[in-house]
Formats: sequence, C-alpha cells, structure tokens
Amino acid sequence: MKKEEILEYLKSDKANSLFKKADKIRKLYCGDKVFIRGIVEFSNHCCRSCLYCGLRQENKKILRYRMTSGEIIRLARQIIEQGVKTIVLQSGDDFGFSQKTLSDIILNIKRANPEVAITLCLGERPFDDYRAFRDAGADRYLLKHETANPRLYERLHPGQSLKKRIETLEYLKKLGYQIGAGNIVGLPGQTLEDLAEDILFMKELDVDMAGIGPFIPQKATPLSNQPPGKLDLTLKVLALTRIITKNTHLPSTTALATSDPQNGQVLGLKAGCNVLMPDFTPESYRKNYTIYDNKVRVSLDRARELIFKAGRLVSPSRGDSLKCKRRPKDYAYT
Ligand code: SAM
Repeated sequence: MKKEEILEYLKSDKANSLFKKADKIRKLYCGDKVFIRGIVEFSNHCCRSCLYCGLRQENKKILRYRMTSGEIIRLARQIIEQGVKTIVLQSGDDFGFSQKTLSDIILNIKRANPEVAITLCLGERPFDDYRAFRDAGADRYLLKHETANPRLYERLHPGQSLKKRIETLEYLKKLGYQIGAGNIVGLPGQTLEDLAEDILFMKELDVDMAGIGPFIPQKATPLSNQPPGKLDLTLKVLALTRIITKNTHLPSTTALATSDPQNGQVLGLKAGCNVLMPDFTPESYRKNYTIYDNKVRVSLDRARELIFKAGRLVSPSRGDSLKCKRRPKDYAYT
C-alpha cells in the first residue's frame, strides 16, 4: 500500500471494512490464538524528559521505586507458574540498574526456565549493555519509535533523536533480538501523514512486534491539557499495520483499555491484534507507574476473559516472532 492509500483509509469514516480485512489477514498469518506476555514494571525511575510521560525525571509528584532483584526473580517465577511463557521486564530509562544487575536477573530467570522468553523494555542504554543482556539470555527488545517524524520526535524527547533510536533498533536486530517498535497515536502536533509514515517505517524496519496505543495525557506533564488520542484512529492504525506488515505481533495495548475500559482491547483484537500483555506488577509499586492518567490494570484473568469475548483462543506457546529469519531454530508454531 502506498502512502496516499494509507492516508485515504486514515481519513475515511468507513472503518468497518478495514477492520474486517485486518481481522482476515490476522487469521491467515497469525491464526486464532492470542499470545500472552506478563509485564513486570520493576522501576519507575527515569533519566529522560519525554513531554508526554509521567515517569519523566522532572515529575516530582510520583513516589519513585525500584523492585529488588530478588523481588523481580520471585515475581517472574510466580508468573511462569501461572502458565505465562513470556516475561516483559519494563522500566523507565533507569541507570540505577547496572548492566551486571540486569544481566544477573535475566540469567537467573533463564537458567531456571530456559523455555520462557524474556522481553526487555528498558529504553536507550549503551550498546554494550544490549550485548550483555542478549548474552545473558534476553530474547526480545521493545523500543517504540514513538513517532517517525524526526522534528516531532525531537520536540517531544528533549536531548534525544530519532536517528539514534533507529540506529539502536538496527543494532538490536543485528544482535539477534526479536525487535519491537511502535508509535503513539494522537500526539499533540502529529498529522495523519505522520501516522502513515509510522506504518511504513515499521514495514521497512521489518519489526517482529509493534506496540501501538493512543496518547493519554498525564496530569504532571507539560502535555496535561492536550486532548487524548482517538480510539477509532488508533484502531485504524493497528488495522493498517496488520494489513501492511502481515505477520507482526500486535498487542491490543493497555492504553486501548484505558481509552475504553469495557471494549477497547476487544476492539483491538478484532482489528488485527494477536497479543495481550497483562500486568503483574505488585499493586504497591504499580500505583506509582503512572505513565499516563487512570492507567487500567489488565490482570491475567481479565486477559483470558477478553480473548474469550473476542471469540479467540489462548495460546499456550511463548509466541516467538512469526518472521522465519528471526525465529529460534527449535521454534514450534502453535
Ligand atoms: N523507558 C522505556 C522506553 O522508553 O522504551 C520503557 C518505559 S516507557 C514508560 C513505555 C512506553 O510508554 C513508551 O514507549 C511510550 O510509548 C508509552 N507512554 C508513555 N507515556 C505515554 C502517554 N502519555 N500516552 C501513551 N503512551 C505513553
């Protein structure tokens, strides 16, 4: 699909046929099973200043926390005992966790559970860290590009550049990680053209997964008074990403649930998504992981209920990349 055609779909009121097409392609390339990834938000410390994010270092209104290595490893074990085969370790860009500490955590989880996949979502770190984490056994890295418009990227991320983010994603791919990018829909100053570029960027980078969700304002950020991203537009971006990238893993994100707690994620599953990411962070910490306001907690039970509601099945597998070249050799497609 050319950029002009993507734009036509983004502008159009007739989204239903687009969602149906995306659902058909999802069924053909990914099947009916939905992969579950268990998220652990282990630190809300962050050295960045992203204008939209409640974890930005300038926000003095949140209580900062770091889970201990022991807490993270024990929680990972409990998640695995519940049948979840992917652990997502997520935090702000927190250099309070050294390369060694994080490598030890990864090694510890993988040694006890080699069959489980570990996804890291730790932001930008020295390239040497990515290599060490990969050597320790990390399988995947999620680093959203947030927006493919370089000027908007630089306005929203003081001190950071889109060029560096792309270089990082390319490097992660070279290290053998299954990589995830993704964008925020409805960022202040973003155009429909920017969204079309986001989709084409993910196609070009040949990402294994794409995390796409609406912008949701956070009260202690410079963007607190801006309108949230629209659910319908986010669903269209998801559907187009499915149609264009075919077999990319697409989570129906927590931000969709926050946009519409009743239906947001089921609509995502019906518009091309094939992944859910329930949150296992203990409540005493989770309440301070306030990247945006009113962040909904999606539990494992809720994830299963949503899959059932969407008429789909829970996958028992860890759900590696569906792109052949980045699948582990012993990968069994289930
Ligand atoms: N520090 C890591 C990084 O930057 O990749 C991971 C944590 S970061 C909080 C996770 C994601 O939250 C970001 O990639 C961003 O897309 C999303 N996010 C943060 N604030 C948001 C907001 N106000 N609305 C929607 N998404 C937001």
